[in-house]
Amino acid sequence: MNVECPVCSKDDQVVAVPGAVAAGTTYKIGRVRLPGAREVADLPTAAALGASKHVMSRTQLAVWLSFPSRHYTAWTRNQGYVLLLVAALMHLVMSLIIAMGQDPAWGEVLLAPFCLTGLFWGFGLLNVLGSYGARKRDRVEAPAREKALAVWESLCYCARDNVAFEPGVGVPFHPSETREYIFGFRNGQR
Ligand SMILES: [Zn+2]
Repeated sequence: MNVECPVCSKDDQVVAVPGAVAAGTTYKIGRVRLPGAREVADLPTAAALGASKHVMSRTQLAVWLSFPSRHYTAWTRNQGYVLLLVAALMHLVMSLIIAMGQDPAWGEVLLAPFCLTGLFWGFGLLNVLGSYGARKRDRVEAPAREKALAVWESLCYCARDNVAFEPGVGVPFHPSETREYIFGFRNGQR
C-alpha cells in the first residue's frame, strides 16, 4: 500500500483499517449468536461464515477500529417481549389463585400480583420501549451511517505511531477516536 502516514511520512507500516479489523478478529465454534444480516456492517454474518454458532473475539485495536454497530438489537426487543409474557402469565396464575380464595376482592385480585410481577413488567417494558427508541435513533442516523461507512472503508492505520488517518485528509487520530472521526469530524465537514 502506497499511502504515507501523516505522522512518520512512511508507508511501510500502513494497513487498511478494514483489513486491520479483520486481522484482529478471530472466531471459534461456541454457543454465541452472530449478528444477523446488516446489523453490524463490518462483521461477517453467520450465514456468510457457513456455520451457525461461533464465538467472536477481537483485539483491543480491532474493537477500536471497527465500524460502530447499530443501536437497535432484535435481541433486546425479544427479551423484552419474553419478560412481558412471563409477567403476564405469572400475573394470571397469581390472580386466579387469589380469586379462588375466600371472598376475593377484585382490586386485590388484580393488583396484589404486582408485588411479584412488577419487576418483570418493568424490565420488559424498559427493553421493548428502549429498543423502539434505538430503532428510531438508527433511522435518524441512517444517512450519516452510509457516509461514515464510506469514510471508514478508506481509513488507514499506521502501526508505528498507533494512529489512524484518512488518505488525502491527513488528520491523524487515535484508534479509540474512530467513531468520533467518521461520525463527527468527517460527517460535519460535508
Ligand atoms: Zn506512521
